[in-house]
Amino acid sequence: MKTKRSESLFQRATKLMPGGVNSPVRAFGSVGGSPVFIDHAQGSTVTDVDGNDYLDYVCSWGPLILGHAHPTVVATIQEAAVQGTSFGAATEKEVELAERVTRLVPSVEVVRFVSSGTEATMSALRLARGFTGRDRCIKFSGCYHGHTDAFLTDAGSGVATLGIPGSAGVPEGTARDTITLPYNDIDAVEAYMTEHGEEVAAIILEPIACNMGMVKPKPGFLSGLRRACDKSGTLLIFDEVITGFRVALGGAQELYGIKPDLTTFGKIIGAGLPVGAYGGRAEIMAKVAPMGPVYQAGTLSGNPLAMAAGIAALDELAKPGVYESLEEKGAYFEKGMANLLEKYGRPGFLNRCGSIFYLWLCPEVEGCPKDYADVKRGDPELYASFFRALLNRGVYLAPSSFEVGFISTAHTFDDLDKTLEKMDEAFAQALSGRANTQASSQKRPLTCSTIAGCTDCK
Ligand SMILES: *Cc1c(COP(=O)(O)O)cnc(C)c1O
Repeated sequence: MKTKRSESLFQRATKLMPGGVNSPVRAFGSVGGSPVFIDHAQGSTVTDVDGNDYLDYVCSWGPLILGHAHPTVVATIQEAAVQGTSFGAATEKEVELAERVTRLVPSVEVVRFVSSGTEATMSALRLARGFTGRDRCIKFSGCYHGHTDAFLTDAGSGVATLGIPGSAGVPEGTARDTITLPYNDIDAVEAYMTEHGEEVAAIILEPIACNMGMVKPKPGFLSGLRRACDKSGTLLIFDEVITGFRVALGGAQELYGIKPDLTTFGKIIGAGLPVGAYGGRAEIMAKVAPMGPVYQAGTLSGNPLAMAAGIAALDELAKPGVYESLEEKGAYFEKGMANLLEKYGRPGFLNRCGSIFYLWLCPEVEGCPKDYADVKRGDPELYASFFRALLNRGVYLAPSSFEVGFISTAHTFDDLDKTLEKMDEAFAQALSGRANTQASSQKRPLTCSTIAGCTDCK
C-alpha cells in the first residue's frame, strides 16, 4: 500500500489546521498511523490520493446510506447547482423536503431545517427551554448530540475516543444545567424526575445509542422515559441524527413505537451535504421565530443543493424493499462475523441494528453492552491493531473503537465476502501473540440483532 501523498498532505495539514483535520477523530489519534486522504469515491469504495481503494464502512459517519456519489443524488445536486447555490429566501424544495419528513415521521408535524446535527440538537434544546420555561436537561453518558456546550458532558463519539470527560471552554453554569445519567437506567431517571421533574425542560437521547459503539434501549427504557416526561411536563427529544431514515424510514421511533415531542435529524437527511433538522408537535414548533419567541436562524438554512440532495435520498429510500435488503446484508455480515469471532476464540461481540453494526472487541463480553461503562471495558489497543491490519488490506472501518460501522445499499454481497476474508486475516494478525482468554468461557452469544438487545445474555 502506497502512503506517500497522504503522508505529505498530512504534514502540510498539521501546520494549517488543528491536528491537521477539521473534526478530531479523522486524525487517527486513537488507532495510530497517519490518516489517509481521500481523493474520490463511488458506491461502496473510497480511493485515497495514493490510489489505494478501500471498502468503506464509515460512509461519511452515516449520511451515505445510498453509498458514495449515488447517480440520482449527484444528478439532482448538479441540476440544482446550475440554478443557483443559495438564495437566502424561501424555495419550493424546502416545502418538498418538509412534506416528505413530516409524512415519513408522523410525530414531526412541523420541521425547521438547519445546517448540521449540532445545530439541530442545540436548537431543539433552546426550544424545549423556551416552551417549558425551565433550564435543566437530562442526557445520558456516552450519547453524543453534537458539540453544543450543553451536551458535551460525558459524551460519546470523538469525546469518548479522546478519553476526556467533557470539553474545556464550557461554562460551569451551562454544565450545571445538564444532568448526566447512565443509559438504560430508568430507576436513576425516575429518582431524579420524582424530585426535580418540574425543573427539567427536556430529556434527550439517541433512541439507539450509536456514538458509544452501539447500545440498544432495554425493553421499558424508552416507554419509561415517555412516562416520566408526561408526568412532569418535560419534553422528550429523540436525537435521530444517525437512526433517522437509517433503521427504518420512520427512524427508531417507528421501530420502538414511542412518540417523542421533538426529533432531531442530520446525516442521511442531507445525503452527504450539510443538513440538519428539528421538528415535532405543531404546538411546540409554534414557539420558533418568526411565529414565537424562540430565536433560531441560518444564512444557509434550507440550502437548495442540500434540500435537493435530501429529497433525492428520501425518494430512493422510500422505494419498496430498500430496508429489507439492507437488513439482509446486515444479517449476512453478522453471520460471517459470528463465525470469525468463534474461530478466533471469542475476542468480541457484534451488535447490530439493520445496516448499523458495532464490533465490540472486549475480553469479557457477556452479550450486548448496556451502557457507556460497559462499552469502556473494551480493548482499544486490540481494535487499533485490527483497524490497521484491515486498512492495509483495503477495508476502511472507523478509526475509533467507540464508533459504529455502516452498510449502504451500494455494498454488494461480494463486498461483504471480501470484507470478511480480510477480517479473517486481520484477526489472525491482530491476535497473534495474544493469550486466548476466552478458551474456558461457556457458550454465550457472539452477536445480537434484536432491537431490544439480548435480554437473556446478562
Ligand atoms: C453526528 C451526530 C450529531 C452531530 O451532527 P453534526 O452534523 O456532526 O453536527 C448529533 N447527534 C448524533 C446522534 C450524531 O450522531
